[in-house]
Amino acid sequence: MREMSGFSERRWTSGATALVAIESREGVPTSQSLELIATAAASGLAGHAAVFAVSLHRLSDAGHDMLRARGCTHLLVPDQEVSPGMHEPDGWTHFLSGLLTHCERAIAVLPHTLLGSEVGARVAFRLGCPVVMNCESVAFSGHDLTVSRACFGARLKERLHVNSPRTVVTIAGKASFPAESGDVRECDDHWMVEEVELGLANANSMIEFIRREVESQSAGPSLETANIVVGGGRGLEGPLGFADLATLAEKLGGAPGASRVACDLGWCPKSWQIGLSGRSIRADWYIAFGISGASHHMAGCARTSNLVAVNSDRSAEIFRHANYGVVADARSVLRELIRLVEEVERAEQ
Ligand SMILES: Cc1cc2nc3c(=O)[nH]c(=O)nc-3n(C[C@H](O)[C@H](O)[C@H](O)COP(=O)(O)OP(=O)(O)OC[C@H]3O[C@@H](n4cnc5c(N)ncnc54)[C@H](O)[C@@H]3O)c2cc1C
Repeated sequence: MREMSGFSERRWTSGATALVAIESREGVPTSQSLELIATAAASGLAGHAAVFAVSLHRLSDAGHDMLRARGCTHLLVPDQEVSPGMHEPDGWTHFLSGLLTHCERAIAVLPHTLLGSEVGARVAFRLGCPVVMNCESVAFSGHDLTVSRACFGARLKERLHVNSPRTVVTIAGKASFPAESGDVRECDDHWMVEEVELGLANANSMIEFIRREVESQSAGPSLETANIVVGGGRGLEGPLGFADLATLAEKLGGAPGASRVACDLGWCPKSWQIGLSGRSIRADWYIAFGISGASHHMAGCARTSNLVAVNSDRSAEIFRHANYGVVADARSVLRELIRLVEEVERAEQ
């Protein structure tokens, strides 16, 4: 292990440690990771455990500043750049498992994203420790861990007590940790980046890259944290409907989403899928176009505050969940909404 920036103690290995995984793009943490570290640093976690941000990739100076501004004081990174050929979840699994193995008592906290869910499960399997997915709140006293999360399609909430020296949790977007001190602290004088040698370069990967297709990232908020989500299903009748859907989501400052059928048909990216086997949203407003309201889909949006459903079939299941319902052709309503928003935009110029 090499130490940087005057770091003289191996603070993350002794006592109770919370390792918060930071996903990043081009050196900058994702919004969900920033939300996670801010909540962890400001909450009871900071009172009972030393909180460390962990990143598989080097962050830019701007990325460091973002973490510091959210009360984070320590960042752990591998001592070598990860090879571009390494399968991302393999790298994370190797790095996080290695860190956890060195800790006396620790929880690994990951965002409940596609990457976080995969890595969380694999780390727990590798270490033989418990994993609790999609948690809404976490309280860690150093010895005891209590988490709560939605279950049965978010109809019920369960509270779990975990008793293990090492545990992995993934955290839903907009989750909260019981706070000890309310505000996020900025620590000007404490900022340490520690390079940790865990033999990442020699990590065996059984997965070999053939080709990587990077899905274009929308500039807006992520599905998990967006206040407005505009979702589409088979009733949008094809990719053109989804192009309109993306336009409306962008104009409303929201995120586009979809049913599994629409993703499987290739009408929109797979990462848009909301539901049991997709992502969970927690929006103030979810506008669903041409979605039937199957329980598998509704499991991912049960925690939205307001659901607006547009469906041509007045007996569609989704109307049983909706606060507002429109019985009409989905694409016509979508286009009309875009027209109205553009009218407002023009009036405001
Ligand atoms: C284990 C498992 C996991 C699953 N996980 C997920 C998941 O994570 N997310 C998910 O979404 N699904 C999931 N599914 C699939 C799920 O059960 C449904 O099949 C899926 O959600 C249906 O998608 P849909 O509503 O787009 O399509 P459909 O069920 O075909 O419904 C289309 C709707 O569009 C309406 N419609 C048709 N034409 C128009 C029009 N012109 N204008 C307006 N409305 C129109 C119809 O009335 C209908 O209600 C899962 C299934 C299984 C078995």
